[in-house]
Amino acid sequence: MLLTITTEHKPATDLGFLLHKHPDRFQSFDFSYGKAHVFYPEATEERCTACLLLDVDPVGMVRGKQSFQVAQYVNDRPYVASSFMSVAISQLFNTAMGGRCKDRPQLVTTPIPLVARLEVLPVRGGENFLQRIFEPIGYSVEAVRHPLDEHFPEWGESDYYSVTISGTKTLSELLTHLYVLIPVFDNDKHYFVGEDEMQKLLSKGEGWLSSHPEKEQITRRYLKNLSSLYSQTLVQLDERQDIETAENQLTKVQEELLETSFSLNDQRLGAVMATLRASGARTILDLGCGEGKLLRDLLQDQQFEQIVGMDVSIRSLEMAQKRLKLDQIPERLGKRLNLLHGSLIYRDKRLEGFDAAAVVEVIEHLDPPRLSAFERVIFEFAKPRTVLITTPNREYNVMWKTLPAGQFRHSDHRFEWNRQEFQDWANGVAEQHGYSVRFLPVGPEDEKVGAPTQMGVFERV
Ligand code: SAH
Repeated sequence: MLLTITTEHKPATDLGFLLHKHPDRFQSFDFSYGKAHVFYPEATEERCTACLLLDVDPVGMVRGKQSFQVAQYVNDRPYVASSFMSVAISQLFNTAMGGRCKDRPQLVTTPIPLVARLEVLPVRGGENFLQRIFEPIGYSVEAVRHPLDEHFPEWGESDYYSVTISGTKTLSELLTHLYVLIPVFDNDKHYFVGEDEMQKLLSKGEGWLSSHPEKEQITRRYLKNLSSLYSQTLVQLDERQDIETAENQLTKVQEELLETSFSLNDQRLGAVMATLRASGARTILDLGCGEGKLLRDLLQDQQFEQIVGMDVSIRSLEMAQKRLKLDQIPERLGKRLNLLHGSLIYRDKRLEGFDAAAVVEVIEHLDPPRLSAFERVIFEFAKPRTVLITTPNREYNVMWKTLPAGQFRHSDHRFEWNRQEFQDWANGVAEQHGYSVRFLPVGPEDEKVGAPTQMGVFERV
């Protein structure tokens, strides 16, 4: 994980004063998540580059969270600039970020040409999102997207970018922007969002965030959709927009309530449980288990002897662990359940040998180019006897008066299929991998548009 900051302001070595780190020295610092090193690959009067290298210790990072097993030891945190980089910036360059410099007091307040480069940044939303975030606050952006694997170009692009931003700024501004914005691009934050996070955002965002056109996205992503914190922060950021904010908030909550208003959630869980019971399965995978609603029901039924929940989001797994009170339930019960951290688009040996897999409201969160990888992971490699996939039926969206036409039910959905699209996809997958598939409506069925949720039940033939 590498961040470089370069200036051609003359004398460029002033950067050392500003950062409070001497250009001739290589300095290392120990943190709970690993080591950080600060050094200057170039330091002349014309051009000076400071480098912050993070060496994140993936093992140390998950120590004390035994229930997630080895899977947690394999993750992309060491290689990408995530919230660790933010933390490191605030720890190592705190004085610089605060705009203090005893030796060169004027320098601190003088905008100078600065270029920051993040070697690998995971970006949800692509180059366009990068521009929408950085350009309004005066940076030009260059981004190079990395393929998933250089040896297999057909696998397509990854979500990782090398990002360079350039602008004439004070160093304090640049560091503050990086501190707030780096986690905004990422999916995963390694620590919980709490009251103090909100305070940090408010104080670091002072003077630029409230007028940023992407204020809401930044806030929402930064605070990871914690809606109460989110609305509070927005309200504080711009009190004049109180009403508008409240309205926006209401729409968001309504969208989420759409489905719960007639407990579609419960109906879906009921349908999934009934199908799993009827399949005779004893060992179950809940893939994309989220916060563990299905896991809770599965645990209560003794038919299911071995239950595994997997999700790509560590935060969801932590919430599942809390919801299921895994640290409190009797060992005998707890032994039946394992939580795994992993992604459904990579082949995973831990998923082999199960009777059934439930993939409930997950596929619509996958980018369409990743679907074929998902298909192989489930149907070619994991190969459970029964696979149960649910996804929204887009046709039903017209039934929800509060959902604006053409809009998806959740902001993270990458697509929503109508019944024909889902069935075409499922039939193709079944045929290719030696499964049969039947389709069941879930929720109240309308004559014209069908049911809100569609379920495909695949059986290996
Ligand atoms: N099945 C749960 C959660 C559905 S939300 C329920 O019905 O309540 C979708 C879930 O899929 C989220 O928890 C998300 O983190 C997870 N997810 C998205 N992409 C994934 C991937 N590539 N691998 C594993 N899980 C993924």
